[in-house]
Amino acid sequence: MSSSRINRRNFLRNATLGTVGAGIATTGSLTAANNPVPGPASIKEYRKFGKTGFRVSDISCGAPSNEAVLRACLKSGINLIDTGEVYMNGNSERMIGRAIQDYDRSKLFINTKLYTETSFPSKKEVIERTNQALERLQTDYVDCMQIHSAENSAILKDEAFHDGMEQLKKEGKVRHLGVSCHGNNWAYNTDENLEKILMTAIDDGRFDVILLAYNFVNAGMAEEILEACEKKGIATMIMKSNPVHIFGLLDSRMEKMEEQGKEADDFMQAYYDKYRLMNEQAKTFFSDYGIKDDAEIKKAASRYVLSNPKAHTTLWDFQSFNDVEEMLALSGQKLESRDKLVLNAYNKHLGHTACRIGCNDCEAACPENIPVNKILRYNYYFSVKKQEKRAMTKYAKLSMNKPSEACIDCVGYCEKACKYGVWTRPLLASARHNLELIV
Ligand code: SF4
Ligand code: SF4
Repeated sequence: MSSSRINRRNFLRNATLGTVGAGIATTGSLTAANNPVPGPASIKEYRKFGKTGFRVSDISCGAPSNEAVLRACLKSGINLIDTGEVYMNGNSERMIGRAIQDYDRSKLFINTKLYTETSFPSKKEVIERTNQALERLQTDYVDCMQIHSAENSAILKDEAFHDGMEQLKKEGKVRHLGVSCHGNNWAYNTDENLEKILMTAIDDGRFDVILLAYNFVNAGMAEEILEACEKKGIATMIMKSNPVHIFGLLDSRMEKMEEQGKEADDFMQAYYDKYRLMNEQAKTFFSDYGIKDDAEIKKAASRYVLSNPKAHTTLWDFQSFNDVEEMLALSGQKLESRDKLVLNAYNKHLGHTACRIGCNDCEAACPENIPVNKILRYNYYFSVKKQEKRAMTKYAKLSMNKPSEACIDCVGYCEKACKYGVWTRPLLASARHNLELIV
């Protein structure tokens, strides 16, 4: 194991030492989780979280999937956990429920979500589903209940949701309302996109917390939303802070196919040259700027988001103890001059490789009704977040059209419509290979 890596035993030992010094809460000696002793694997900065009355760690836990890693995060001073009823079929909430029993609940901010594609069937169902979430979380209340991945503005006004939440707030079971968004489901209204949906939520006045994708490639769109949140005192949670595409995944798959004497299908063949060109451009960029690996840009990308005080907390899907060590080392850090140089250059030379997620112009332009934004997002889960199973399951469940032969003969309306110049077709070809696991 390299010296930069940390094993579970060492991490737990370090985390425990940090915990003793920090006085971070375990039942019986409850103190604020907001005061960890400075150390490499502990939170260094807490921020005012809108008007919720909470101060949250600048880095927080998004959709935890490993209980031991989650416990390490809590011990290190992370005090916000994000989850949702659909994550791991409720097991993410169950895992959090077990882990938080050892902590002072009042020092933790728990955010969960209810999802619907179109509208919530009834107030009764909203209340029942919230009560079930509370049972799984083993808590009397959630700090925030969000509408999960709002796909249009209409859902923000959903009467069943708001009536249910009004009652749950009175009962003390829900403290704040929030909304997360990945952009529009174009099938309902092609005029909408992430910006329009979230601006509607901000203007609505009933939502205290907004969860959005923010990174150095979508800054133009996201920073307007963050600014609007700041003006209204709305708390912000950030997801997808690292937009850096993993280059080369497809190359190795294609090489394997070649070794096996298989040929890529026509769709892939049609765009493979362009895909390879992106890989070559990435290699040149990495070498020209002396960048060792993706991890280096990932750190710069994280510092970009952490530097913006309007981005209150950045969610991270900690998959391992190593992730915890690496990410918590970034807590309290700000953008460095080399980061600025590298990220600006990345935008200039490789901006066409990263979908900004949420602007939706590509989808509205597609004559085949292919949800380009959504598929590129699933490919992001697969190739950047390494959540292969989750990405493939979502793709398999997609009831809309998928990239197909139609794309081969198409002049590329989606690419033409994208104001960021994203090379959607080779990315869609790669997404299809990844998400259908074509080998
Ligand atoms: S491909 Fe372009 S238009 Fe489509 S969602 Fe991504 S950035 Fe927006
Ligand atoms: S290439 Fe054409 S058919 Fe395929 S997603 Fe883009 S616009 Fe739609």
